[in-house]
Amino acid sequence: AQTPKPRGRFAPSPTGPLHIGSLIAAVASYLDARSRQGEWLVRIEDLDLPRQMPGAAGLILRTLEEYGFEWDGEVLYQSQRNAHYLDALQQLASDGLLYPCGCSRKEIADSATHGIDGLVYPGTCRHGLPPGKTARAWRIRVGDMPISFQDAVQGEISQVLSRDIGDFVLKRADGLFAYQLAVVVDDETQGITHVVRGADLLDSTPRQIFLQRLLGYATPQYLHVPVATNTAGEKLSKQTLAQPLDSRHKTEDLWQALAFLQQSPPDDLRQGHHADIWQWAIQHWQPSRIPRQRAITV
Ligand code: GLU
Repeated sequence: AQTPKPRGRFAPSPTGPLHIGSLIAAVASYLDARSRQGEWLVRIEDLDLPRQMPGAAGLILRTLEEYGFEWDGEVLYQSQRNAHYLDALQQLASDGLLYPCGCSRKEIADSATHGIDGLVYPGTCRHGLPPGKTARAWRIRVGDMPISFQDAVQGEISQVLSRDIGDFVLKRADGLFAYQLAVVVDDETQGITHVVRGADLLDSTPRQIFLQRLLGYATPQYLHVPVATNTAGEKLSKQTLAQPLDSRHKTEDLWQALAFLQQSPPDDLRQGHHADIWQWAIQHWQPSRIPRQRAITV
């Protein structure tokens, strides 16, 4: 078989305009792909309509363009892909891996233990809906086998899903498909070979690898960059009032993103044209310099 052309992606959720935190993830995935002579795709993760800001998707794409990102192919919108998520869900269901769950948030909070990434579902509905309960969400049965991968920055990551995460939701009580399912289906559809994103998603990766294996998909390489946090330790986001990017400062912002990733951009690039930064950055991209940390305060 032919080895596939390297392909990366940037997958923003359109909850607001881009800020320096999201720019760091975009820059890292772009440089990773371009330095491999690979392709770089954009996917708008607009699955969760209630959390979106109207117009944010268009704003994000315009900002990417202004900052000099060039993407390959058409932008993929998750809001248009329900049929594909349903296919994957049905495949897992026909393999007997899913079950309906009737637990409320409160019932879970009252009985669950804490895992690596939130509460571990105690398995209340695993062997059938208890009497009086109606199906709300669909969960997948996870196993006791460790799921491990080698992250290009964070090193070896290993989880036992039954212990660390618990049976997790693929279709939510509000009818929406879960991020974990959508991202796996879309990375497969888009032929992504290299996932580069913020380390806030490091603990989601074993769940995604688990689903890839069950669905017969290839597992991409993973590289998780530290996330930028404020002095209170919160990830920069619209909720924590991160400043939207302003393209009048694009050269400085790109320089800052490279500095955050410890690429040591030369000082004289700071005043120049953003195209010169890109040219330098693609030639000098060194993922081994990225700090092996999940978060860095900016
Ligand atoms: N949409 C997610 C976010 O904005 C990123 C998902 C991913 O890269 O897998 O945080």
